[in-house]
Amino acid sequence: MSDVYAEPTTGADPTDPATLARYTTLRLGGPAGRLEIATSADDIVRRVREAEAREQAVLLLAGGSNVVIGDQGFPGAVVLIRSRGFRVVTEDADTVTVRVEAGEPWDDLVAATVERGWSGLECLSGIPGSAGATPIQNVGAYGQEVAETIVAVAAYDRTEGKVVRIAAADCGFAYRGSIFKYSDRWVVLSVDFRLSRSPLSGPVRYAELARALGVEVGDRVPLADARATVRRLRAGKGMVLDAQDPDTWSVGSFFTNPVLEREAYELLRERAADLGEAPSWPCPGDTVKVSAAWLIDKAGFGKGYTGPEGVAISTKHTLALTNHTGTASTAALVALAREIRDGVQTRFGVTLHPEPVLINCTI
Ligand SMILES: Cc1cc2nc3c(=O)[nH]c(=O)nc-3n(C[C@H](O)[C@H](O)[C@H](O)COP(=O)(O)OP(=O)(O)OC[C@H]3O[C@@H](n4cnc5c(N)ncnc54)[C@H](O)[C@@H]3O)c2cc1C
Repeated sequence: MSDVYAEPTTGADPTDPATLARYTTLRLGGPAGRLEIATSADDIVRRVREAEAREQAVLLLAGGSNVVIGDQGFPGAVVLIRSRGFRVVTEDADTVTVRVEAGEPWDDLVAATVERGWSGLECLSGIPGSAGATPIQNVGAYGQEVAETIVAVAAYDRTEGKVVRIAAADCGFAYRGSIFKYSDRWVVLSVDFRLSRSPLSGPVRYAELARALGVEVGDRVPLADARATVRRLRAGKGMVLDAQDPDTWSVGSFFTNPVLEREAYELLRERAADLGEAPSWPCPGDTVKVSAAWLIDKAGFGKGYTGPEGVAISTKHTLALTNHTGTASTAALVALAREIRDGVQTRFGVTLHPEPVLINCTI
C-alpha cells in the first residue's frame, strides 16, 4: 500500500473474509455485508440514504488508517469514500480558503498547498488517510493540528436528513477529538481550510522539528523544508506508510497521550520516581499531558516487543502496534493492546485510551 490508499476492485466479493483488511493500513478486518464506492459528495449521500432505506448499518471508510475492524468484519454497508479534488472558494491578499472533497488523499493535499505557497498544513505532511477524516480526530502532529486552519465542514446530518455547514467553532475540536468522533450522525462531505499566502511555515513549535531544521522554536522556515523534514522525521519512526516496511502496518499511535488532573500527575511522579521524569506538557485547567510512549516503554513494553500471533510494537516507535507479519488477526492485536494498557495501569495507575476508532472489537 502506498501513501494513497487502496482502490477497490470492481466486482470483488464483499463477503470474502479478507475484504476489509484490503482497506485498512493494519491489513486487518473481516468481511463486509456490502461494499459501496462513493466518488462524489452527492454519491456519498445517496449511498448512505439507500443503506438507511434498506435498514442497514453504515460504516464510512476512507484511508482506513485510523480504524481497527474486528475479524467478524462489518455486516452492514461499508461506503468507501473516494471523492477527489479541491478548489479555492475565497481568497484575498493574505489568505486562501480551499474546499477539499472528503476523499482527497491528505498528503497529496498538503503537497499541493506547499507547492502553491499556502502555509498552514506543512507540519501535517506524511499523515496517511483522507482530508475528510482529518476533522474526525482533529489530526495533529509536530505542533500543528487541523483545528487551526479548518473554517467549516460540510456534512450530511443523518439525524436531520440534510446537508449542513458546520463552523469550526461548533466542531468541538479537542486533543484527538471532535463532535464527529464516535458519532454515526455526521458524514463529512468536504472541509474548508483557510491558509496563509506565505512561502514560510507557521512558527515551528515542536522542539524536535526545530532541531532537525537547525532553527529555534518559534522560527519560520521555507514550506518545502518543513514538509521534507517532517516527512524524514516521520519515516524514521515508521510513521509514513511504506508497503515494504511492516513497522508502518499500523494505525500510527495506538494510544493517546493521557491528560491527567494535577493530583493524578503527582501520583504518577511518585510511582515513577526511580525512572526519571516522564515527558509532559502543561494543558488548560491545570491538567498535564503525559507521553504515552514513555509510560509504555517504562512499563516494560519496548520497541519490537512481540505479542501473540504476528503482532508487535513497531521497532521504530513504542506507540505503534503493528501487524508486522501481515498475517495477524484483530483478536491478536487487541490482546496486545490490552496487555499494554493493563501493564501501564498496574505500574503507574494511569489508564491509556485507544486513539483509533474500534469497530466490532474492543480492548
Ligand atoms: C503510519 C500512520 C501515522 C499516523 N500519524 C498520525 C498523526 O501524526 N496524527 C494523527 O492525528 N493521526 C495519525 N494517524 C491516524 C490517521 O492517519 C488519521 O486519523 C487520518 O485522518 C485517518 O484518515 P482515514 O481517511 O484513513 O480515516 P479512516 O481510518 O478511514 O476512518 C477513521 C474514522 O473516521 C470515520 N470517517 C472517515 N471518513 C469519514 C467521513 N468522510 N465522514 C465521517 N466519518 C468519516 C470512519 O468511519 C472512522 O470512524 C496515523 C496513521 C498511520 C497509519
